[in-house]
Amino acid sequence: MKNLSKKLLIKTIQLIRFFIKSKKLDIFFSKILSIKFKKNRLEITTTIGCALMCDYCPQTLIKSTIKKNENLDERIMTYENFKLYFENVPDKTVIHWSGYSEPLGNKNFKEFINYLQTKNYEQHISTTMFGRKDNEEFMSQTKAFKSVTFHLPDDSNLMKLKVGEQYLRNLEQALRFQCGLLPSNDIYIVVFGKNFHPQVENIIQKLINEKIISKKSLDIRDHIHTRNGEVSNMDKFRTDENNFKEIKKGENKLYYCSYGRLDQGVMLPNGDINLCCQDYSLKGVIGNLKNESLIKLYKQEYIYKKGFASGQYNLCKKCEYYTSL
Ligand code: SF4
Ligand code: SF4
Repeated sequence: MKNLSKKLLIKTIQLIRFFIKSKKLDIFFSKILSIKFKKNRLEITTTIGCALMCDYCPQTLIKSTIKKNENLDERIMTYENFKLYFENVPDKTVIHWSGYSEPLGNKNFKEFINYLQTKNYEQHISTTMFGRKDNEEFMSQTKAFKSVTFHLPDDSNLMKLKVGEQYLRNLEQALRFQCGLLPSNDIYIVVFGKNFHPQVENIIQKLINEKIISKKSLDIRDHIHTRNGEVSNMDKFRTDENNFKEIKKGENKLYYCSYGRLDQGVMLPNGDINLCCQDYSLKGVIGNLKNESLIKLYKQEYIYKKGFASGQYNLCKKCEYYTSL
């Protein structure tokens, strides 16, 4: 939703709520403010646990959750299960290869991508370009993606990626290939921190000089998500902490997800759909694709039953995007 139309929508909702008080209407308003209004989206986590262990990512939380929860024991997505889950994912759904770990770490990554390509799903990826060698090489062969985000190592070792010869070679080839294929506004070359790792920076500079990379694609970020209150106070980074205040009795506020994530869950290797990419505790599971359709899960019946629209949904209270009107 574009900013202007969203502002207009919020004003209209405020006006209606001034005259009409209705819980049902509030749930309806909360739902429309909490989605992106285009197509449903789905993020995919192909393996639980990410080897990159970035300082700005709560990987230890996800690992400790897994240890305590037998249901989450399936840590690696298999091809057979993947096809089974996708029987419940409409082909209009936009697929994001991101989630809670690096997608190139799964040995079936290529099969997943090719399978969805034959079924005409729109696919986007965010990758560090570090994973299995064949998957790294595949990134300079596949035309499956509508956009590619290269999330690359920094100069302060916040991302624990060993920058070696093979990595640099595959990264350069993938950059050359994908930047040659896609318009520059569908390529994002991102680093969290002050700058790219010096050897990565050399490659980027070389490809800028050769006019393969556009400077517009570069994004050096000093802002990080709190990941639902799990990451904060990191030196030199900005975050937007949520100072959520308990709702007083009679307070008539309407709550919604200003990050528009109620139609962008994260699929786990066992087929569970977790609420969103901000919840690394994995406590927000809304259902499983083995026996339920994504369309049904995105009705978000559970969280609204637990009071999401009135600010009562505990899981979101530490998240900077749990917003009230
Ligand atoms: S930010 Fe991405 S690459 Fe870094 S540890 Fe988390 S999932 Fe892995
Ligand atoms: S945790 Fe945050 S981003 Fe996720 S659904 Fe809740 S409010 Fe939205």
